[in-house]
Amino acid sequence: MPDNSIPAPKETICYEEFGNLYLNITNQCSARCVFCIRYFADGVYGYNLRLSREPSEEEILAELERLDLGRYREVVFTGFGEPTCRFDSLLHITKWLSEKCVFVRLDTNGHAALLNPGRDVVEELKAAGMKAVSVSLNAESEEKYNQLCRPSLNGSYKAMLNFTRDAVAAGLQTRMTVVGRQDIDIGKCKKIAAEIGSSFRVR
Ligand code: SF4
Repeated sequence: MPDNSIPAPKETICYEEFGNLYLNITNQCSARCVFCIRYFADGVYGYNLRLSREPSEEEILAELERLDLGRYREVVFTGFGEPTCRFDSLLHITKWLSEKCVFVRLDTNGHAALLNPGRDVVEELKAAGMKAVSVSLNAESEEKYNQLCRPSLNGSYKAMLNFTRDAVAAGLQTRMTVVGRQDIDIGKCKKIAAEIGSSFRVR
């Protein structure tokens, strides 16, 4: 009998949208946000972001080498997981991109210091050439954050705020974001971002 099923799209490490290139280097995460797209879809923009295994640094760089990186406004670590779960790979790839004068941004939950204890995570990102960070603030209080984001590590809300403060102090372009939901006080979140010195966006 012929198999007429449509094959699932190949799992994706690099994908393009909005003039940017996005990198999906891990499916690990230190949170389980109730609104995470991973619970509702296999990917975004038609790309399959579920990884059967994590690509090695060599595999990621081989994909990047095939692309004309000058075409993109920025290269963004994002995808179906928290990129700082693979902190050393994140640093190595950022350095490789920076040496090619590519503008690099990290989309993060801000838990990097908890995930990589003993390291000065923001300084290391800056030294590798990271130019911008977009941090998921997600809630106006620790209590609500814990309900919505269900972090696996104690102190995640404070760690996220500290990560953002350090990024501002280090001179990285810094943005905090929230999901537009009725149960999130957008006004209070905007105020938190302003007090930290970060820009703010509802995503
Ligand atoms: S931090 Fe991001 S990847 Fe992790 S569960 Fe929340 S939305 Fe999903």
